[in-house]
Formats: sequence, C-alpha cells, structure tokens
Amino acid sequence: MILHLKDSVSQQEADQLAGQIKAFHIRPEGKSVLITGSGVKEVPAALEGKVEDSWVFANDIQLASRSYIQGTREVKIGDVTIGGNTRNTLLIGGPCSVESEEQIRESSQLLVKLGLSTLRGGCYKPRTSPYSFQGMGLDGLKLLAKMRDEFGLNVITEARDATHIDEIIEYSDVIQVGAKAMYDQGILRACAKTQKPVLIKRGFGTTLQEFVQAAEFVLSGGNPNVVLCERGIRTFETGTRFTLDLCGVAWLKHHTNLPVILDPSHAMGYAYGVADLARACVAMGIDGLLIEAHRNPKEAKSDASQQLTHQEFTDLLASLQPVAASVGYKMI
Ligand code: PEP
Ligand code: MN
Repeated sequence: MILHLKDSVSQQEADQLAGQIKAFHIRPEGKSVLITGSGVKEVPAALEGKVEDSWVFANDIQLASRSYIQGTREVKIGDVTIGGNTRNTLLIGGPCSVESEEQIRESSQLLVKLGLSTLRGGCYKPRTSPYSFQGMGLDGLKLLAKMRDEFGLNVITEARDATHIDEIIEYSDVIQVGAKAMYDQGILRACAKTQKPVLIKRGFGTTLQEFVQAAEFVLSGGNPNVVLCERGIRTFETGTRFTLDLCGVAWLKHHTNLPVILDPSHAMGYAYGVADLARACVAMGIDGLLIEAHRNPKEAKSDASQQLTHQEFTDLLASLQPVAASVGYKMI
C-alpha cells in the first residue's frame, strides 16, 4: 500500500509512523510517502486522520505501477530527458567494454559526430568464464570520466557486484545494473541511496514481476530515477543468443510507469540481426535503445560477434529516425 501523508505531518512524525507500521518512508518533492507491502489493504490505525491519499495493490509492483502514476516517469540523463511527455528515444551507443583510451575516444567521437549524448562501456564485466577479459576496472572508469570531460557526453557503465558500486556511482552518469547483477541486494540498495539514474537490465531467467520488483528496491529506498531494460530472455531457442521479449515490453509499458529501454545487441548476439531488431523496437514507441558498437568488432575483447561497426551504427541511426517519427517519437 502507498500512503501520501498530509502536509501537517512533520517529517519526524512520518519517520516515527513509518517505524511503527514497518513501512518505507520516502520524500519525493518534499512530500512524505509511506510504502508497506501489498498485503496491507486498509489504512493502518496508527495513520488515522494523517493520510491524504492511498493506493492498494494486488502485488508488490507499487511505486512502479501505472495505477499509482498514470504516465511514464520522466528521467533526466545529463541534459537529456526521457519518459514523461517527451516521446524521446535515447540511443545509447558504445562498445561492450572499455579497452583502451584510443578505442573509447573513437567511440566518443562517433557519438559526437552523430549528435548523440550517451556513451556506454563496461569496466567491470560479468563474464561467464573467469578466463575471459574481466574489464579495465577503475582505470576504465577514469577513461570514461575523461571522455565525459573532453566531449561533454553522459556515460553509463555497469556494476558487476557491490564491492565497487561506490566507484560506479561516483564515475557514471547512469548506473547500469546488469542482467546477472539485478538480484544483487547490495547493488540495488546502494542505487537507492543516490539520485543518479539507474538502468536495470532484466535477468535472462527473470519474470516481469521479479524484474519490476528489483526496481521497487531502488524506488522504495528513495531514488525515483529508474529505467528498465529488456535485453533478451532464455528460451528453448539456441539459434540466437537470447530471445528479445517484445511482449514483455508491451506488458511493462502497460503496467508500469518506468521508462523502458531495449537492448537488441545482447538479445540477438549477432551483429547481422541487430539493425532489424532495433527498428522493430523503435516501432513500439520506446524510451531508448542500447546498441553495442566497436571500431573493430573482430578485435573486441568481449561480445565481439554482436557489436556493430561504426559505419553500421551510423547507418542504423539514419534508418531509425523515420521509424521513430512514424510512431510520434524522436531519436535523440
Ligand atoms: C552489457 O551491457 O555489456 C552486458 C553485459 O549486458 P547484460 O547484463 O544484459 O548481459
Ligand atoms: Mn556486452
């Protein structure tokens, strides 16, 4: 249950009441909001006369629910905004991993040339094998920060586990919580304590309900800036790396108030299908797209098979613009 308290209830009293009924207490726009589990269906007696408005839910998708906030939340990523009434589709581009200064500078130059704002690049890679390239770590984060300073780009990079989450929060403009990390309570709870946007990727074996509940950890801890990312789930099919769940995207758009970004690169696993999928995604009317591109995909230290060349990425953007326009969106 979500309860908006009356303005006459002080912050201190709201804290005390939250403790009494074992609720979360957040203060979006200076307003005290208490959140209990969805099992609570009536205003608790302790809050009698103190509640301005309340919402009851069938399950623990509450702050993220579209029955709580009717539209899509607005999330600011640096100086660009997605969600709300913007109808912006943010194209996030860059390599799977930051590999060297020259490599990430070429990625940055590509984005600047195309008028794009947001650079991706992993520094702590959640690899399936311990023998694969694990990422440049802090040195990579410093390179991303350097690119931000040099080119005025926003940077997004992923946390592999909670041991380096403070570094990620410090160095990035958007914190990426990867498909394998989305159950990590240490990461989610740390993300709740910042106001930086958090992009949560759906685990490949995660139901939509579980996915959105991961977002609830961040929202209920006080960070309203959460973006969901569908990146493919595991099905019986092995011809492609994963299966991009577009039905799930329609479900998220219908049931939640969070912006939704799609990642066809990791879903497909092969560069040849990424552009077709990206156009299908944009045709749904989405808040963003995450596409991996590398100056020389064959030499990439991770996800080599799925990364686009810079020319392919450039051509893709040109082909996405009319698709976005056809559904009333704009590629930014
Ligand atoms: C990535 O974005 O490079 C990545 C590892 O993605 P995912 O967590 O979706 O596998
Ligand atoms: Mn990758």
